[in-house]
Amino acid sequence: MAQTEQQEEDYGYNLFPERNSGKFQKGSIAESLFTFNHKCQVMLQFAMETSPYAKLLLGAMKSSGCAVYKDRHFSCEDCDGTVSGGFDATSSQIVLCQNNIHQQSHMNRVVTHELIHAFDHCRAHVDWFNNFKHLACSEIRAANLSGDCSFHNEVSRFNFGLKKHHQECVRGRALRSILAVRKVSREEAEKVVDEVFDTCFNDHAPFGRIPHDKKDAKFAYRDFENRDRYSANL
Ligand SMILES: [Zn+2]
Repeated sequence: MAQTEQQEEDYGYNLFPERNSGKFQKGSIAESLFTFNHKCQVMLQFAMETSPYAKLLLGAMKSSGCAVYKDRHFSCEDCDGTVSGGFDATSSQIVLCQNNIHQQSHMNRVVTHELIHAFDHCRAHVDWFNNFKHLACSEIRAANLSGDCSFHNEVSRFNFGLKKHHQECVRGRALRSILAVRKVSREEAEKVVDEVFDTCFNDHAPFGRIPHDKKDAKFAYRDFENRDRYSANL
């Protein structure tokens, strides 16, 4: 908590004289909205500049002709319940839930997860609304490749062997994501997820591997950066 307050001080709030003029009373709703939104923007910027997962996805989208711009393609908003983020295919915008994301590591994961949906949208012309398999596939890929299921994010990891655990985690998270956005029965969602699981679980684009931790992601990013060098030698 103390650390959070310290960080906020460093964000340069004293550069906003309105906060002292009474417009943003301490503890008022206006103040907390301002704070949440600003913090969300700062964490987003930090994720885009420092997370190897995010940097790789942003680079891959740019080279696929879908360059991502912070102000155009991201929106920090208050969300209902415990949702962390979403991808709005109609506007090609990623929503970040500023009231539910409080830590940089969480922001990094949400940005990565949603960028994987955006990447799928860019490369594959996904039919999010009519083709249930497309949605299931992208949720499997997002859970598999975003670090959502990496060791320290999963407390129950001791219940399974490591590899099996990762697959179970991906399957469970994909199911939960689908059930959160579509009115379908659990059985129906399970059936579709199982149908496409192997194909989508083994599709690691644009990472070329499952980035289990930040180190993996850094290697994947380095390979991505060097990709032209290899093809130039062919
Ligand atoms: Zn998702």
